[in-house]
Amino acid sequence: MKTTKFELPEWTFEFHGHRCPFMPIGYRMGTLALSKLQVEKSLNHEMRVFSEMGIGHPQGCMQDGIMSATGATFGKGMIERFNYGIIAAIFWYPSKKDAVRISLKNEFQDKLASHEFFKYRKQGIEPTGIPENVRLDIINIVLNATDEELFNVSTLENFNYTPVKGSFNKAKCEVCGEYVFERYLRVKDGKKVCIPCSERTHEETVIHLPDITRG
Ligand SMILES: [Zn+2]
Ligand SMILES: [Zn+2]
Repeated sequence: MKTTKFELPEWTFEFHGHRCPFMPIGYRMGTLALSKLQVEKSLNHEMRVFSEMGIGHPQGCMQDGIMSATGATFGKGMIERFNYGIIAAIFWYPSKKDAVRISLKNEFQDKLASHEFFKYRKQGIEPTGIPENVRLDIINIVLNATDEELFNVSTLENFNYTPVKGSFNKAKCEVCGEYVFERYLRVKDGKKVCIPCSERTHEETVIHLPDITRG
């Protein structure tokens, strides 16, 4: 069977900062999501991504690839993280009834895990400190794989998501005087204050979870 090597734009590596296998996996995941949803890269606030990844595992690099491919960036507020520690993401697009969930196959994760690249990583060596040929080899494994070898894809039917309504309304914190977007204002001793000035306790830490219903 003839395989075609996936081409990755060079700017994605520049943006990400180093050459590793997970940013390219994310880029391919995002590219596949665009084709499954039959949409283009989002220039404004269209595509939403719910990443199931967490923190403290190297696969998080994937999210930079997802952002690069889909345009659903952190800055635009289009990617949110569920912190499940699973190498998967849900892709939602306005006006599309169904969302798409793509996860990295266990078999492919096992295949990568035995690669020399991870011997270095497990010794605490950062990607830029790993010999170039080792990194190119593992990246090529990713780029030469087919979508079927890489991913499980499922359709989340009638996926329901209510985006937070955008607002330009802001007010001054009555303690420190800095502008705060209204939905973040709190009331303390009868004053409208920002979160740091409200001296919230740890138990009250504001945790935002995206409002979704899984089909
Ligand atoms: Zn990386
Ligand atoms: Zn304040």
